[in-house]
Amino acid sequence: MKSRGHLFYNTFIFVILWLVIDKIPFSAILLPIAISTFPDVDLHFESHRNMVFHSVIIWAFICWRNFNLICTLAMLSIGLHLLLDIRVNRLKWRGFYTIKIYRSKSLFFFTKGFRGRLTTVWLFSNFLISIVPITLKLISL
Ligand SMILES: [Zn+2]
Repeated sequence: MKSRGHLFYNTFIFVILWLVIDKIPFSAILLPIAISTFPDVDLHFESHRNMVFHSVIIWAFICWRNFNLICTLAMLSIGLHLLLDIRVNRLKWRGFYTIKIYRSKSLFFFTKGFRGRLTTVWLFSNFLISIVPITLKLISL
């Protein structure tokens, strides 16, 4: 999905969350919306769908260190990005779509990435993980 699509759908989802859940103030949804395109920074590193950026690893660590509402919403935002990156059509599960472990042409160092099915499992399981902190946070509020 293109950056504009991520921004549009994440904005839509977070505004709905803000309207539906009283415990979420408007100021808390601004950062998650702003970072909704963050995983695609790897477009500049010639290894798009980089394993580190297209996962919630970084955000899980940040949330673990400071467990607050904005952090958990930020992790949800990344999870939603990964969910929106999933393609339903199996014929498109290749090339640009797959998760790369590391790949750089300039260093003559190639590493194979995930296969299509594993990429889909990776993206969806990371989305499921991203729901956990916000759920725990909303229960405790
Ligand atoms: Zn992406």
